[in-house]
Amino acid sequence: MKQKITIALSGNPNSGKTTAFNAITGARQHIANYPGVTVEKKFGRINHKGYEIEVVDLPGTYSLTAYSLEEIVARDFLVNERPDVVVDIVDASNLDRNLYLAVQFKELGIPLIIALNMVDVAESRGIKVNQETLSTLFDVPVVPTVARSEKGINELLDKVIEVALEGEEWQPEIISYGIDIDQSLHEIEEVIKKGIVYDEKYSPRWLALKYLEKDRQIIELIKGDPEIKKEIDRICKRTFKHIMDTLEEEPEGIIADHRYGYIAGITKKSVKRKIESRLNVSDKIDKVLTNRIIGPVIMMTVLYGIYEFTFRASKTPLGWFEVFFEWLKGMISLSIPEGNLHSLIVSGIIDGVGGVLSFVPLIMFMFFAIAILEDSGYMARVAYMLDRVLRWFGLHGNSVMALLISGGISGGCAVPGVMATRTLRDPKERIATLLVVPFMNCGAKLPVFAMLIGAFFTENMAGMMFVFTLLSWSFALFAAKILRSTVLRGPKTPFVMELPPYRAPTIKGLLIHTWERTWQYIKKAGTIILGISVILWAMMTFPGLSKEQAQIYEDHRTRLRESFLSLPEVKEFIKDKHGGLITLDELFTEYNTAFLNNDMESVKALAKSPFFPIVERILSKEAIERRSEEENSALLKAAAAYAGLRAKIANIEVNEQQASLKGSIAGRIGLGLEGISRTIGFDYRTNIALVGGFAAKEVVVSTLGTAYSLDKVGSEQSGSLSEKLRRDPDWNPLVAFTLVLFTMLYVPCFVTVISIKRESSWKWAGFSMIFNLIVAYLVSLMVYQIGSALGIGI
Ligand code: GDP
Ligand code: MG
Repeated sequence: MKQKITIALSGNPNSGKTTAFNAITGARQHIANYPGVTVEKKFGRINHKGYEIEVVDLPGTYSLTAYSLEEIVARDFLVNERPDVVVDIVDASNLDRNLYLAVQFKELGIPLIIALNMVDVAESRGIKVNQETLSTLFDVPVVPTVARSEKGINELLDKVIEVALEGEEWQPEIISYGIDIDQSLHEIEEVIKKGIVYDEKYSPRWLALKYLEKDRQIIELIKGDPEIKKEIDRICKRTFKHIMDTLEEEPEGIIADHRYGYIAGITKKSVKRKIESRLNVSDKIDKVLTNRIIGPVIMMTVLYGIYEFTFRASKTPLGWFEVFFEWLKGMISLSIPEGNLHSLIVSGIIDGVGGVLSFVPLIMFMFFAIAILEDSGYMARVAYMLDRVLRWFGLHGNSVMALLISGGISGGCAVPGVMATRTLRDPKERIATLLVVPFMNCGAKLPVFAMLIGAFFTENMAGMMFVFTLLSWSFALFAAKILRSTVLRGPKTPFVMELPPYRAPTIKGLLIHTWERTWQYIKKAGTIILGISVILWAMMTFPGLSKEQAQIYEDHRTRLRESFLSLPEVKEFIKDKHGGLITLDELFTEYNTAFLNNDMESVKALAKSPFFPIVERILSKEAIERRSEEENSALLKAAAAYAGLRAKIANIEVNEQQASLKGSIAGRIGLGLEGISRTIGFDYRTNIALVGGFAAKEVVVSTLGTAYSLDKVGSEQSGSLSEKLRRDPDWNPLVAFTLVLFTMLYVPCFVTVISIKRESSWKWAGFSMIFNLIVAYLVSLMVYQIGSALGIGI
């Protein structure tokens, strides 16, 4: 008797697999409403009636033929790990379509249980499934469930134990595909059995079937034995021709038809539906939401609404983060003396990584809004509507999902986006999608945009974000159109878009979803971004000024101080009234700022400040009266001289810091690029940030943060990066807008480039870097030059 049981949860996307997994294991899992999100398998372990059951959540798939990543992942797990039982979560309200996968499990032969899920939905639509009939005809145990309310889960587990205890061998079911195909399958089987590549993992019939279905993995496998491949290809070619001649369809299509026929035969007897329930609630909603005219209007409104919500809701918490980081910097300054360590922590980490982290509230609200779209099923409608547009630009319906995943609304990631292109079977459509996916506004670009919006476009933040989204889509679509009519010219392939039903999202699902993505963002900031920030800080700090150079600045300052102290009015003042320079410092600063202006308002304000005791000493009426007229006028003169000294020394410090930054390793790279970058309004600091941004786009924010922290213009050290940029005369809305466009379009980040390479080749990965850089530069050049000429935003 076996104590440990392994089960695999499988099923079509949206059949409730994740919900069932959560109900069984109590574990957390991402819940989304479109295919392509659940690519990794998740594990959970529970005890049921003394048995330890390990549950693996397979990616949602419609089929077991290795066309897509999900299918490969799912199938590999099944044949390599050979779980005791596969539990196929089937959507009872959409049985015919869902059983397509179940049929293939039967063909594979793995012990199977069908969880007839969403029986509540089916019932509400007037669909009644006779579970006994289904079980008998399909020859598989069937357990009805409502995963959302955990109904039937215990019964399901009982059944799992029962089936696992039987410990049956795999028994491939044989389904007829008509005389011709059956005959060829038989012949291919015989050839395979002779070959060296025959793998016990699969039955020869399965291999034969999948080869006919043009399964990528199996074709690779058979390639390993050129002898038998030749023989099999001969049979396939003959079959193909014969089938085309007689049925005017490819064998693939015929095989699918037969599977659906097999299913229809079963459901006809086991499913009863009321005619009047045909038009269900989702269909009715879709009549409005995907209407050709109203649909897009609603879509745009929803999009705008999301941005409005995100910026409004995050405004206050963003302020808290700013205050927190200011406070932190203050604490550090108090406890760590000026020097490299201080600079690393304040300029490298807090102004760098902190700048990225301070956008967490914004990211969180954005993800929350997107989670609502996904979990409710509206995202699939967005895809559905965009599909019409995309086709015109030479992209495929499946490209929509890739683009949305990459940040079509903002806040996605191009890496899973690139992987999602695997569902595209036409290589040219696939490469075209692959190449434009990085134009979308991924989560890493979000802090860059938010920072620049916060600095220069505060009047209508949501509107600006909306514009950026539309721009990124426009660039992606036009680039696709160009690619598809030049290097990637080719025919369009057909596509059917499926619309899952609408569902009310659960609060728990939304929160988990939001938190998982926010946590990813935080984790990335705390690891990769932190590492890169420290490296870039070092590159911006070292080698620093040479001793001689630093000495020049120091000498300059010393000279100024000495000449100040030897001024007659100062000399006299020190000699007569006060012993040391420190006292002078305190007194003069306050005196200078308030007394020189001599208006009561600032005197009063000063009186409230922590400097009150000093201020009072010099500014109080009595104090002034106590002093002779002569004394007061001496004080005034000395104060004016002191103010001059301070200004000059601050100026020297700024020059020194700038010289140090420019002379650093990164500074030299940034300066070297200024020749080109000046044409689009970027100085060496932005160049450093953009070079760093190749590692990850958030680095654009963290690096600017560090650069502006190291180079304290006018000795202004406080404030967020947004504030610093706003104050800097080199920056204006036009530069900011250009930087947004450049960040949106230029070279995809390092990880994305690697993913593109993995999905295609170095050639296309290299192409995407160069292509994107050129597009980014040309667009920026046009915008900046036209903007400058017309005086817009400067
Ligand atoms: P998966 O993507 O296939 O894993 O499916 P999910 O677990 O994400 O479920 C999709 C949606 O269906 C979620 O909103 C669930 O709350 C909902 N859901 C899951 N099971 C049931 C059920 O039995 N009845 C109803 N009404 N909804 C369900
Ligand atoms: Mg799922």
